[in-house]
Amino acid sequence: MHDVIIIGAGPAGLSAAYWCDELGLDTLVLENTDRLGGQLLQVYNPIDDYLGLKAADGLELGQLFTAGVEAAEFDLWTGVAIDSINLKAKRISLRSGEQLQAISIIIATGVRRRRLGIPGESEFEHKGIIESATRDRDLFAGKDVCVVGGGDAAAENALLLAEVCPTVTLVHRGQKLRARRTFTEQMQSNHCLTIFLESRVARILGEENVEAVEIVRKEGIKPFQMAVRGVVIRIGVEPNTELFGEQLALDDKGYVIVNSEQETSLVNVFAIGDVSNPLAPTISGACGSGATAAKVIASRMLS
Ligand code: NDP
Repeated sequence: MHDVIIIGAGPAGLSAAYWCDELGLDTLVLENTDRLGGQLLQVYNPIDDYLGLKAADGLELGQLFTAGVEAAEFDLWTGVAIDSINLKAKRISLRSGEQLQAISIIIATGVRRRRLGIPGESEFEHKGIIESATRDRDLFAGKDVCVVGGGDAAAENALLLAEVCPTVTLVHRGQKLRARRTFTEQMQSNHCLTIFLESRVARILGEENVEAVEIVRKEGIKPFQMAVRGVVIRIGVEPNTELFGEQLALDDKGYVIVNSEQETSLVNVFAIGDVSNPLAPTISGACGSGATAAKVIASRMLS
């Protein structure tokens, strides 16, 4: 029996673990990948908006966080596959057959990039699907590319690629871009960049690597293929709640609903970080929510 089991070792989970340990709680962290840091591992830009800390990228900030918990005594298991969770009973069954029990559970499972679900999207991973323009744009310099999405992330990637690629075609399903005005203005005045509104990419095509995308524009215009060597997909994120979703109150987008103590609709089940924060997902917010959950749990155990 553990006082607390934390699911997920991104900034929120690590912060909660640090605070639980500080407050004398017997704590176990379960992380399904082999690495700590969660979404930080997919951030390739410099991070300078975490008060008092700066990092060249998410990996570096993740290493600072990991170093910050090195002296702590909580248990941390990586590469853990969870088979099922009974949140009411606070029981977790691992695929290895092990059964775990806790007094409180903290969900820190984060969000993942949304996928288009089209042919070619999985097949061409690392073969023309661009993970990050910041990281990979030199590989695509001089090549025509396509970006899917209409928010800040799509716009930012399109602008970065337009610095090195002869043509960048941004394909957005809506009538209007959602990206901030400074980005849309820069895109509209960039002669390398073409924007297709009310359009979608239906397929990504090629032999070994990406060679083209099939674009479907507004009704009435026939689908056509456009030669590109790289595709960036930035269509937002979705919460990782599949394991326990129907046991908790979720909002209409699947995010866990919490109160000001980070507690979910179930007593002694908490959710922290991006999985419960659709409106203002930030690294500092994630760390703060981890600290809040730990303090609330510790104060209940004392009373
Ligand atoms: P957003 O949720 O803001 O935008 C997602 C875009 O993808 C929308 O335009 C949406 O279309 C489109 N979309 C969603 N689902 C599909 C689908 N199935 N098929 C096609 N298109 C789809 O996500 P972002 O990742 O752009 O941004 C996330 C957050 O990160 C935002 O808060 C943003 O401000 C922030 N950010 C900040 C940056 C910065 O400060 N430099 C850089 C990048 C991101 P529709 O509009 O029709 O719904």
